[in-house]
Amino acid sequence: MNAAATPAPRHLIVSGGASGIGLAVARMAVARGARVALLDRDTAALADAVRRLGEAALALECDVSDAPAVRTAVDRAAQWLGGVDALVNSAGIDALKSLEATSDEEWARVLAVNLTGPMLVCRAALPHLRAAGGGSIVNIASGAGLRPLPNRTAYCASKAAVIMFGKSLAIETAADGIRVNAVCPGAIDTPLFRTSYENADDPERALAEIRERYALGRIAAPEEVAEAVLYLSGPGASYITGTALAVDGGRTFH
Ligand code: NAD
Repeated sequence: MNAAATPAPRHLIVSGGASGIGLAVARMAVARGARVALLDRDTAALADAVRRLGEAALALECDVSDAPAVRTAVDRAAQWLGGVDALVNSAGIDALKSLEATSDEEWARVLAVNLTGPMLVCRAALPHLRAAGGGSIVNIASGAGLRPLPNRTAYCASKAAVIMFGKSLAIETAADGIRVNAVCPGAIDTPLFRTSYENADDPERALAEIRERYALGRIAAPEEVAEAVLYLSGPGASYITGTALAVDGGRTFH
């Protein structure tokens, strides 16, 4: 494939697109002329996101761990978009607990949303990406999938697994011109991130301790991740597949 001839993505599906990193990706893609279908389980946040994004966005209520619902939502998205050339899997949940405090249900839920969810959305989207002549998948993993964190066994395991899921899928889909990459964010100022320190006994101190893990010494804005996601989704990354890009202020080497 000729890189110069590879068009920027115009028809994106973004799971978890109603908040945080997914919403920032959607906002940036729309600002650059794309149409975006948002898959999310949060009805109110979806409605708010689409109201702000305007006619270039479609809201699809969907739990990414529900296979039939995912299939229906992805097919509806493809129809509304007029094809799919990029998928971003951003839906995810955190779980801040020691292993012994984690119930079987909590463990299963983290894996269902953070690992099975991206798999289901990818599987439903692949025929549409192939019909478009190829495209890009970006799974939002985490720095926690590259380096462990305390009291997050389920989360870290789910994020490491989704990185390897994407690498394996990248081999399967390469011949169809479908690139699959992961972005591994560090500490990004979103509702999910805020729960990791707001409930601490001393939230200010907890936040300061988090900052210290990062070479750049700060929490990032969701747009700083969205830039990397759209880069990997676009023509500039035409020779990049199977990678896990840390967008983490230097935590993985620090
Ligand atoms: P967020 O909570 O702001 O957004 C996540 C979105 O996913 C929400 O709109 C939520 O409703 C949706 N969602 C959750 N479970 C879902 C499900 N089962 N089905 C459909 N939608 C669902 O969080 P965020 O920080 O933007 O997180 C986005 C992704 O980035 C997640 O996968 C998260 O693990 C990852 N991540 C975030 C950070 C960070 O610091 N914020 C760091 C590393 C990785």
